[in-house]
Amino acid sequence: MKADFYSLSRRELSAALENAGFEKFRAGQVFDAVYKNKIFSPRNFPSIPEKLKLWLEQNCEFSAGRLVVGKGASDDTKKFLFELNDGKFVECVLLEAPDDGGGVRKTLCVSTQVGCACGCRFCASGKNGFFRNLTSGEIVAQFLPFVKEERRGSKKARVFSFENVVVMGMGEPLMNTDNLLAALDVLNSPEKFAFGARRITVSTCGIADSIERIAKADFPYRLAISLHGATNETRSRIMPINAKFPLERLVAAAEAFAASNGRMITLEYILIKGVNDSPSDARELAKIAGRIGAHVNLIPYNPVEGLPWERSPARRRADFAEVLKRERVSFTLRREKGSEIDAACGQLALRTSAYNSDSSIGAP
Ligand code: SF4
Repeated sequence: MKADFYSLSRRELSAALENAGFEKFRAGQVFDAVYKNKIFSPRNFPSIPEKLKLWLEQNCEFSAGRLVVGKGASDDTKKFLFELNDGKFVECVLLEAPDDGGGVRKTLCVSTQVGCACGCRFCASGKNGFFRNLTSGEIVAQFLPFVKEERRGSKKARVFSFENVVVMGMGEPLMNTDNLLAALDVLNSPEKFAFGARRITVSTCGIADSIERIAKADFPYRLAISLHGATNETRSRIMPINAKFPLERLVAAAEAFAASNGRMITLEYILIKGVNDSPSDARELAKIAGRIGAHVNLIPYNPVEGLPWERSPARRRADFAEVLKRERVSFTLRREKGSEIDAACGQLALRTSAYNSDSSIGAP
């Protein structure tokens, strides 16, 4: 079986090459080709002998999947299907939004599982259940097609064509924590892609024991929690995971994370008509946000075919936001975005946009 190239450290690669009879310095050349020049096929590595290219092809996996279908929407949200080597599909989304300087900021959203076991009632991805975890190589492979060539002065450089990464595609990231952390390490490690930790957000539906674990570990990334209900009664109605990790435990885990990590958590809250959009829901949400010191991201629900839920009306959303404003909660109310794209992970495109745009109606 081939080794996942991206999980090898420079030292491990060097040892493997030496074992196979190659010079030690070749590991540095290979690392430069992949992580500096962003060339992901040994065939195209510069200054590498043919024999080593062949060895790398035979012994290392450089891509655990490929993009097969891209689907655009009028608001610059692009959804891609990604085919894994066993023929299963996951998806990633590239969202473009204007930034403060008049440019365009792009956020890539990646998946961590095929299917999902959490069964959130509003979600398209969760409807068909769980198939398997992605390996760290399969998570990394979703970044690789998004590398573009850029001219810098007289030279060309290959750079990532996204500025932020959010882990909120298909699956629950914190039910595949080891592989997720290994993949993020490849992206973030200074000897690999050196992509800034603050530009990476992991979104969970509330796996409290994993949040407790990352609160104690070296976890330099941002955390978002899909709350969607501010009482156990409401949350249990739409998120079965609440039976295992009720709000008391989830909020305590989030507090521990905020205390150890020092970064503001985002609470995602999809507004669903008649389910979680009353002024009393807003007051309960304000209490939780206050306790954790979190930012709240309010998202108008995108109806999913075959599911009974409806979007909360505009007036009700505004009233809900008004309560948060009164309670001095930092919040953002999303505009509808990406609604032409089939929903995955509930509100994938919309939730992705929260990490990619500054449009808001109020935050104290
Ligand atoms: S919303 Fe996310 S966690 Fe919930 S079922 Fe869908 S994919 Fe799983």
